[in-house]
Parts: sequence; C-alpha cells; structure tokens
Amino acid sequence: MKTIPRLHFAHLPTSVEPMPRLSAVLSGPRLIVKRDDQTGLAFGGNKARKLEFLLAEAQALGANHVVTAGALQSNHCRQTAAAAAHCGFKYTLVLYIPTSQISILGNEIRVEGNLLLDEILGANIVITSHGEREQALQKTMEELREAGEKPYLIPYGGSNPTGACAYAFALQEILEEGINPDWIVFPTSSGGTQAGLVVGARLYNFSGRILGISIDEPAEIMKERVARLAVDTAAFLGEDISFTPDEILVNAEYLGKGYGVMGAGEREAIRLFAQEEGILLDPVYTGRAAFGLLDLIRNDFFPQEQTVLFLHTGGTPALFTDQYAKAIL
Ligand SMILES: *Cc1c(COP(=O)(O)O)cnc(C)c1O
Repeated sequence: MKTIPRLHFAHLPTSVEPMPRLSAVLSGPRLIVKRDDQTGLAFGGNKARKLEFLLAEAQALGANHVVTAGALQSNHCRQTAAAAAHCGFKYTLVLYIPTSQISILGNEIRVEGNLLLDEILGANIVITSHGEREQALQKTMEELREAGEKPYLIPYGGSNPTGACAYAFALQEILEEGINPDWIVFPTSSGGTQAGLVVGARLYNFSGRILGISIDEPAEIMKERVARLAVDTAAFLGEDISFTPDEILVNAEYLGKGYGVMGAGEREAIRLFAQEEGILLDPVYTGRAAFGLLDLIRNDFFPQEQTVLFLHTGGTPALFTDQYAKAIL
C-alpha cells in the first residue's frame, strides 16, 4: 500500500460507546456508537478525517487558498473553513440555496448554525443557487487565479479518493479498538465515507456489513457512486480492488420529502437518542440515518444477538437554526 501524505488535527481515535438503554427500549440488537461527531475541528464530524488528507495534498501542491462548495448549512464547508484556518490557508466557500428560494438572496438569509460558524471563522463566502452552483464555483476559481492565488478545490463533501481514503483508515481504527461489529450503519450522501469504509473492509479483512442510509439519492445512484469511488480510492492507495454496485449496501427508504427536510421519523430518532443516551444527532444526516436504524430494528432486520455500530458522522450545528428548531419542538 502507498503511503499517503496526511496532517494530524482530528481527535483520533474517536471513542466507541455502548448504547444499552436504546438497545433495551427497542428490544433490539446490541447497539454501539462511534463518536465521529467528536473529531474536533469546529464541533466535529466526518469531514475532519477527510480534511487531514485533502489539506496535506493542498500543501504538497503549493496551494495557498482552499475552495469548496456545499449547501448553506453544509457541515463539510464549516469543517473545511476550520481546517484551512488551522493550517494557515485562505479559504472561500461557495454556498448554495435551493433554486426555488433564490428570491431570499440578499435580504433574508439567517446567519445561524453552520453559516454563523463560517462567518466567525472568517470564510470568504459566495452565495448562489443550486442551479448555478457549478458556474459560481468555476468563476470563483478563475477569479482567484487571476488575482494571483493558488487555489485548491475540494469537491462536494470532500468525496474524491484523497478524502475517501480517510474512512479506510477509520475502518482500521475500529478494528484496532478491538471492535468487530456485525453491522456499521451511517448516513451516506456524497459517498466518500461509505467508499472508504468498504475499501477498508477489504484491506483489513472486516467481515461485518456496511450499510449506508441514503440521505438524498435513490439506492441505484448511491450504489453506483460508492462502487466507482471505492475502486478509485483503492487505486489511489495502490491497491487493485474491484467493487460492483450490487455489493454496496444502501437503503433509500427514508428520503421523506428530500434533502434537509425533517419529518416525524427524524424528530423521533433525535429525541430518542437524546433522551435514552444523552447523544445529540443532527437534523439532516444522522437524524435520518437513525430514523432508518430504528425502523429496521422495529422490523427485526437485525438478528437479536448481533452488534450494530452506528457511526455518528456529526452535523450538530444545524440543530441551532430556526428551521430545525421549529421542526424538532
Ligand atoms: C457529509 C456528511 C455525511 C455524508 O458523508 P458522505 O461521505 O458525504 O457520504 C454524513 N453526515 C454528516 C453529518 C455529514 O456532514
């Protein structure tokens, strides 16, 4: 395996904790949680691991300015700003709002949750619509180059082989913690987390199953995306491993009204984790994945004697927004 340049700013290894009360109220399998919400870096989350590799690559390429894009409440953008600040880069975030809400541009954007943290972190922020996000990103890159900057572009969610390889090492970390769950369950969206985990499973002979709960895409699209990224991530690590979409486990039964729209299932999951275990989930990703986990347990999907590890990928700053507070209360 190749040695990949890496920086070290995430708080690793993250802890794995039992969730006995949640297991008991559900009469379910043994539940444990890996706290990747506690990676540090402006309130933590799964992007911290990816950024250790992405910013090492940016440094190696001689970049001085990090650029990335995401939704207005993007956790990835918030953590990128914090990591870039920590490593001495300048940083620009291209944040998009749904095209249907473009009329609020310029007057009614609430500075709260992740966006408040982006502002405190001093990010240069470009706001655009979902439909124009690609153009806005290209224009931002061009303008920076014209101004003499050396920008490094991180893709959505940090999900290229450089970012995704971090979760191959996270799988190794789980095994080194002496944990061998039958299942790893977590939210999947841009696919880097899942791609890294499945690569890690092959590299380190993990025999459990890796089940992504889709946040915003049909299962077929997610499986394709993850399989392709997993092949590329393995190649990036110097390993020739094949993955086909049918080997990738994705459940897309919990999409509800779409990305970022909280429903009754997410609300119940967030309250149950908080009230049984004192663990705070987020409204967009882990709330939805936990909704899926609870529903699967209630439908006896997991054999009683098995161990299910829920990977908490972070995202909690989005709780502190008017929209989600209203949905949770
Ligand atoms: C980005 C993100 C995810 C999804 O991870 P991918 O690697 O993009 O699939 C899950 N949870 C949280 C909190 C995130 O911010």
